[in-house]
Amino acid sequence: MARLAASILSADFARLGEQVKAVEAFADMIHVDVMDAHFVPPLTIGPVVVASLRPVSSLPLHCHLMVEHPERLLADFAEAGTDVLTFHLEAVEDPGKVAAETQAAGMRPGVAVNPETDVRDAFPHLEGLDNVILMTLESTGYAGQPFQASSLRKVEALRAEVDRRGLGLDIIVDGGINEETGARCIEAGATMLAAASSIFRADDPARAAEGLARVAGEGR
Ligand code: ZN
Repeated sequence: MARLAASILSADFARLGEQVKAVEAFADMIHVDVMDAHFVPPLTIGPVVVASLRPVSSLPLHCHLMVEHPERLLADFAEAGTDVLTFHLEAVEDPGKVAAETQAAGMRPGVAVNPETDVRDAFPHLEGLDNVILMTLESTGYAGQPFQASSLRKVEALRAEVDRRGLGLDIIVDGGINEETGARCIEAGATMLAAASSIFRADDPARAAEGLARVAGEGR
């Protein structure tokens, strides 16, 4: 059974608490996309918003850091109440070291892989990770892009490697995920769907989350 992460990137930030509450019953996790205008062009949100969200929801908070030097922010995100923190493979010199630091700061570590990066580059660093985020759109950083079908090969390759080594990490797909693309990703071996636009740009986010949760629950 796969799970659903509601990504607040497409939420109405003026009503963020309310929007998270609306989908809470159907999501397993709240996914927070942090962008720094350096690693990716957009600038989004940081630990202050995570700290505000913390008392609003009992769901685990997963921060996906699309930033340079994520190691410098670990203490701030831990302090804000982050449960799971994923940094980009491309943003650090030594993924194993940053993962260990993330763990030491009290958060479960993950590594994210950009669309243009070979997924096999992550293989030496999988031991001890909570999750790998595979970006399933054309370029990291913007919500609302179409799903890239070519990324299914990456999901399959990572699934095979994780199974071969008997690892328990989550394979999270992030980008262009809706009921149709989510089902294909689960079929390919993903264990968690991160969805932003298909939930928060829907007329009824709760109903959209319910539909995605059903797709996730029916898979694997
Ligand atoms: Zn994300």
